Amino acid sequence: MAVSSLLRGFAGSRSRDNEALRREVLDDFEQAGIGWIWASDTEGRLVYLSEKAIDCLDRDADELLGQPLSTLFEIDRDNPDEKSDRPLNFQLSARNKLTDLVVRFVGKSDKPRWWSLSGHPKTGPDGSFQGYRGSAKDITVAFQRKLEDSRMAEFDALTGLANRHRMDRRLDSTLAAYKTAKRACALMLLDLDKFKYVNDTMGHPAGDDLLRQVGDRLRAVIANRGEIGRLGGDEFQVILPDVDDRGELGELADKIIQMLSSPYQVEGKRAIIGCSVGISIAPYDGLERDELTRSADLALYAAKNGGRGMYRFYSAELKDVEQERQIMLDDMREAMEQNHLKLHYQPVVSTADNSIVGFEALMRWEHPEKGNIPPNHFIPVAEDSDLINRLGEWALRRACEDAMAWPENVRVAVNVSAKQFANKGFVAIVTQALAETGIDPDRLELELTETIFVGDLEATEKTFNALKHLGVRLALDDFGTGYSSLSYLRSAPFDKLKVDKSFVDSCTQKDQNSAKIISAIIGLSDALGMDVTVEGVEAFDQFNLVCEKGAKYIQGWIYSKARPQEDILAEIASGGYRIEPSGPDTYRPERRSVFRRIGVIHEDHRYEAVMRDLSKTGSRIEGLVGVPVGTGLVLDLGGGQLVVCEVRRSADATIGVEFETPLINDGSGGLCTRHRVSPYALAAAGMPLTSLPPGNYPNSMLGGDGQKSQPQFMQVTVARS
Ligand code: C2E
Ligand code: MG
Ligand code: MG
Repeated sequence: MAVSSLLRGFAGSRSRDNEALRREVLDDFEQAGIGWIWASDTEGRLVYLSEKAIDCLDRDADELLGQPLSTLFEIDRDNPDEKSDRPLNFQLSARNKLTDLVVRFVGKSDKPRWWSLSGHPKTGPDGSFQGYRGSAKDITVAFQRKLEDSRMAEFDALTGLANRHRMDRRLDSTLAAYKTAKRACALMLLDLDKFKYVNDTMGHPAGDDLLRQVGDRLRAVIANRGEIGRLGGDEFQVILPDVDDRGELGELADKIIQMLSSPYQVEGKRAIIGCSVGISIAPYDGLERDELTRSADLALYAAKNGGRGMYRFYSAELKDVEQERQIMLDDMREAMEQNHLKLHYQPVVSTADNSIVGFEALMRWEHPEKGNIPPNHFIPVAEDSDLINRLGEWALRRACEDAMAWPENVRVAVNVSAKQFANKGFVAIVTQALAETGIDPDRLELELTETIFVGDLEATEKTFNALKHLGVRLALDDFGTGYSSLSYLRSAPFDKLKVDKSFVDSCTQKDQNSAKIISAIIGLSDALGMDVTVEGVEAFDQFNLVCEKGAKYIQGWIYSKARPQEDILAEIASGGYRIEPSGPDTYRPERRSVFRRIGVIHEDHRYEAVMRDLSKTGSRIEGLVGVPVGTGLVLDLGGGQLVVCEVRRSADATIGVEFETPLINDGSGGLCTRHRVSPYALAAAGMPLTSLPPGNYPNSMLGGDGQKSQPQFMQVTVARS
């Protein structure tokens, strides 16, 4: 035998042995589960997979082989380490090398499986692609632990909602991406009212349970509209991508407040909390997380100070709110000392014979410089400090004193704020007022609102019982506007319900529901043996409607506004126990009188004018002469709020305009536009991209191209009268 052939033979057997050995090593490798091998064809279909691997997936080989790899596996988006957002089939068709790529088996299986996949594209001698060759191993246990850890770092263990850390990152990345794409994103900050109270009185486990339920309710309201997080304590946050319609946001906020304010079952007891919401919108109120969050924070703060259970949009003026609040508190203290606070009395009249059955005491404050300040402004500020207790005590005593000068069958109603009611000394204060003035307890009616039910219901019940024991009457004021109402009536000993003015406002308007609600409330209270007073009746169309629905008592301007004690005494002295209703035939929704400098844009001209009143659908504006009816205008209400409108009336320097789209509630008793000028649009017009500055913007910024024509209207100066 030739050496050469011997050598060849040897080499041959060597290579055969080698080949066998290699297979054996590979087999062992596969069998031991150290790792598996896979291969794909040029189309990305799986053509080989280690047998153990197939077993691990609980599948038959023919269910896997021949299937595209990218339908069998997907890149796990929950993987905290995964930076790339390219899907698997992108990686494969780009012929990228795969290095320890974490993929999840897509097929339905009882237990999810995660693999770490490596592989490289194999090329033939001619350079053509021949498919992938690679290895894989199962990392399910380790990966699940990692997910768990990252979840703990990203999610709140109590509610399962995202935690502050995750929300911050979310907001950062959303805002960065949206800035480039010129998209909007809203941010809501939520704070629970009275949560601390529940936590303190019912214990921490109860508090935890309550927070869990809050989380569930939030999830139900928000659904897939945005991401919810708990920032800590009783603070929650919602990121709402692609929403900048303030009408829509206001409705959502209202719904959240309503949902979170209905009663909870906590450890077998009922608990009620409230919720305040602050809203800011990128890019209008902030472009980066810091600015946007600060804006939402200020709005939340204002919502809480505005009486809680409210939402509030951010606006530039809010920066001064805290300062104003402080000034108002100081002024109020002074007003108390200087006797600038007064009580006026509004009659409650029996519709049967127009006789006066009682008066409601309403606080009036004539500020030496600012003039008349409405109670809706100063009472909430007082409620946020201890001042409300002093104010309330004074009002109670004063009202009882004054009522002693009225006929004995005429009652006096006094408003009691929830904070006063919760005050431990409240029953003693009432007792003392009764004793010192000598008024018959049955003549004193305390008007409470549904907010007293927030917090510890057992304490509330105790106070109720003590008051009933004194013999005073209890009325539920503003019925139907607050927390879900009917449930309280079963247990609470009210003698009277007061139907809120808002139902009366809308009962003759398009909203037919209000009339039905009024009728239902009257029916319900009849059944429960309670009196009903309908509040806020101004015009005869409302009067006739509520009388037809069975209203026996009415308190409204159609009979009288609140008047000072002197007037009441004079009336009584002249024998005036009766008042005839008198007022307009039909109700016209209230226009708020205002004095607000606005811009009026007509063609490429801008005029300065003064808005004198404002409703959702229109406004009266002073300062322009010679504007024909039918002229189309744009009002600049400041802060990027533009309103398209048409002139309906025009006389001297005053025009009346109707808005193309109605304004919406700003959550705090004011009105605002649904949309604002987008900072993106301003940036396109050459301004730097920033959140909206306060005030009015020159025409050039609003898309006008400078003043070319002559002004068509005369502008006159309007002074505050
Ligand atoms: P309220 O207790 O619901 O009082 C009724 C309000 O409706 C009063 O507003 C009254 O002037 C107004 N009103 C009655 N009839 C009509 C009507 O036909 N048309 C219109 N447009 N309004 C009508 P007011 O006096 O501004 O008081 C607002 C709120 O301030 C009260 O609502 C009450 O919640 C609070 N408040 C007033 N005085 C006191 C007080 O002494 N203590 C406390 N805690 N709150 C008070
Ligand atoms: Mg009242
Ligand atoms: Mg009321």
